Amino acid sequence: MVDDAERVIIGLEVHIQINSLESKLFCSCSSDYHGAGPNTRICPVCLGLPGSLPVTNEKAVHKAIQLCLAIGGRVAPVLRFDRKHYFYPDLPKNYQITQYLEPICRGGSVEIETRKGAKRIRIRRINIEEDPGRIVYPGGSPHSSPYALVDYNRSGVALLEIVTEPDMESPDEAVAFLEKLRSIVEHLGICDCGLEGAMRADANISIEGGERVEVKNITGFTEVKKALAYEITRQRDLLAKGQRPRRETRHWDAVRRVTLPARTKETEEDYRYMPEPNLPPAPIPRELVEKLRETLPELPDARMKRLVEQYGLRREVAKVLVSRKVLADFFEDAARIYSGDARRLANYLVNDLLNWLKDEELRPLYRRVRPEHVAKVMRLLDSGVISIRQAKELAEHLVKRGVDPEKLVEELGFRRIADPERLREVVRKVLKENPKAVRDALKNPKAINFLVGMVMRETRGRADPVVARRLVEEELEKMKS
Ligand code: ADP
Ligand code: MG
Ligand code: ZN
Repeated sequence: MVDDAERVIIGLEVHIQINSLESKLFCSCSSDYHGAGPNTRICPVCLGLPGSLPVTNEKAVHKAIQLCLAIGGRVAPVLRFDRKHYFYPDLPKNYQITQYLEPICRGGSVEIETRKGAKRIRIRRINIEEDPGRIVYPGGSPHSSPYALVDYNRSGVALLEIVTEPDMESPDEAVAFLEKLRSIVEHLGICDCGLEGAMRADANISIEGGERVEVKNITGFTEVKKALAYEITRQRDLLAKGQRPRRETRHWDAVRRVTLPARTKETEEDYRYMPEPNLPPAPIPRELVEKLRETLPELPDARMKRLVEQYGLRREVAKVLVSRKVLADFFEDAARIYSGDARRLANYLVNDLLNWLKDEELRPLYRRVRPEHVAKVMRLLDSGVISIRQAKELAEHLVKRGVDPEKLVEELGFRRIADPERLREVVRKVLKENPKAVRDALKNPKAINFLVGMVMRETRGRADPVVARRLVEEELEKMKS
């Protein structure tokens, strides 16, 4: 088969911000720059001014070690930083402090699910490094902008660079890896990956035997999938024409949906790596590593297993919940408050709420829609006040408006009419207005359905159908006698 002859090989370099920390990697500036005015989270250190000295944020190192332990990697015995030189406006020092000779972590792996079953993606290394600043193009792109602006708020934010072995064989596997990694770093409290730019991936891709191409600039997992699919087609087309893909760096243009050649990449020598003289090597005590191992939180695989056992969820449902920490937390909080059928609750979250949450990167969770809201919806369902269809309809309002479901039910006129006194009036009206149907129903019980249907219509679907039917039958019975 052609597919066997042309195996696709993918390796990823993922950058994840440690944005859970108060401060940046080497200074005390706030790492929370989202929504902050440009260049308001800066100091001489992260601007690279002469004479300023970096001080390593210990907590960032602890988080890196925890990630290393979580994926079963080997923690370096010594913490070392190196300088990587390049000249670009987003890098005020003209070098980035990163790790080259001795990364904080080597080895380890992350398990993903593929169509063929479970598979381990090996990790080559994890580096701690600083994020560059952000270049803003007022026209949207370099080509359409007469000038560029630089915002150094991001400059110096702690990053983890995770480099995989080339173990992925399809765009789907690459996305599965990214999703799993995201969930792991969320559970470790490293990253709120819902924040823009918090997780960025470069993808290396080749067709077996050919040169590899590095695709940069891909934001979002669906874009990763599209960019890789495009590259596979492009490289296969070249091979089919008897040409060979060149070893190069390309950019993903999300608007035109193509990869385009980028500047030729520096070789290792061009970066002129050297040990960072302002940060002398520091031994990493084994006791520290053991302490960090003991305080590792529950990780996604274990949590998924627990959700299946504790709440009786289906595996696929548990998998969706655990794919984002905030979603799994939300489910468990709502389940505690509701203490009813947790499977029903989980299905409601995964099938209905998630529909409306996706576009907003789950941000409304806990902010607009609260666990007690969802617990209330479940109770309204259980007590027959609302129908399943109405519960589905509530999902959109919950997510977009964050209003208490009790209020929504009133506002939308959802409350079921189960009160026999109120319904009996409606039933009598319907019987009076449909004499022919009444005559039919008196002869043939099947014709009662029509009358019940009329009661439902009269109440715009709010009548409790069981009560309505009983009342119609009672009223007909009275007529007989
Ligand atoms: P560099 O130092 O130039 O970035 P590396 O050897 O460190 O190169 O590899 C970078 C990334 O490229 C890694 O994620 C690795 O898995 C991936 N990679 C290596 N070889 C291949 C290949 N033949 N096809 C696809 N990806 C590859
Ligand atoms: Mg590299
Ligand atoms: Zn600073």
